[in-house]
Parts: sequence; structure tokens; C-alpha cells
Amino acid sequence: MNIIRKEGFDFGFDPSACERCPGYCCCGLSGNVWVNHEDILRMCRFLQINPIDFITQYLNRMNNRLSIKERVGEQGLECVFFDSPQRCCSIYTVRPRQCRTFPFWDHFKRHKDELVKECPGVRP
Ligand code: SF4
Ligand code: SF4
Repeated sequence: MNIIRKEGFDFGFDPSACERCPGYCCCGLSGNVWVNHEDILRMCRFLQINPIDFITQYLNRMNNRLSIKERVGEQGLECVFFDSPQRCCSIYTVRPRQCRTFPFWDHFKRHKDELVKECPGVRP
């Protein structure tokens, strides 16, 4: 078992848990997956779509930020890139930085209880 640890976090993460998880971090309660310029270009290259069309089709603008749209799924709301039948991310190799860095977000340094409820890959 390969547990990932990061300095400053009092928990670890077992990535093998994702194989058995139905994708709790991509669906359920509403949440914002913020994307930056680099994320957009990377996803556009992968999807073979131009950035304007990508933004129109897949992103919501909130104040000056862009986040991935959600849709109603079996377990509440889900990211539009969530592959429901396969229970995984349809753009995994090019997913946004926010998704790549989960669960090591500063927010969870102070709210580990929220994370433990959501992600079965968290380890003491
Ligand atoms: S909730 Fe945790 S275990 Fe489940 S897919 Fe997301 S990162 Fe993996
Ligand atoms: S982009 Fe992929 S990893 Fe990120 S929330 Fe959407 S489905 Fe999940």
C-alpha cells in the first residue's frame, strides 16, 4: 500500500482507495471545481475543442472565476466530466489542478472531519 503524505498535513492518502470508491469527490453535494488558464488549455487539447466553445459548454462564470458545470446525477449533483456508468473522471489525465491536488487542500488542514466523511482514501 502506497500512502501519499504531504508536509503540513496530518493525514495521508491511499490512492488505491479510488479503485473501490464510486467517486465521492466528483459527485454528491454541490461544489466548485475552479479552473485556471493552464487547466483550460490542457482540457481543450485533450477534447479537441477551442477555448471559447469549451468555456461556453463546460464552465460557469462566478465573479471573475470559472468553475466546471454540474448536472444532476444518481447521487445528487455531479461534475459534467464525471463518467457516471464507469464511476470515474472522463478527463482524468488532464483534470484540473484542483482535482489533482485533492485531498491535500489547505481547507482540509482545518476541516479534516469533512474530508474523512467524504473520502475513503484518507489515512491517519
Ligand atoms: S473520494 Fe477519495 S477515494 Fe473516492 S475517488 Fe475521490 S479521492 Fe478517490
Ligand atoms: S474534473 Fe474529473 S476529477 Fe475533477 S471533479 Fe470533475 S470528474 Fe472529478
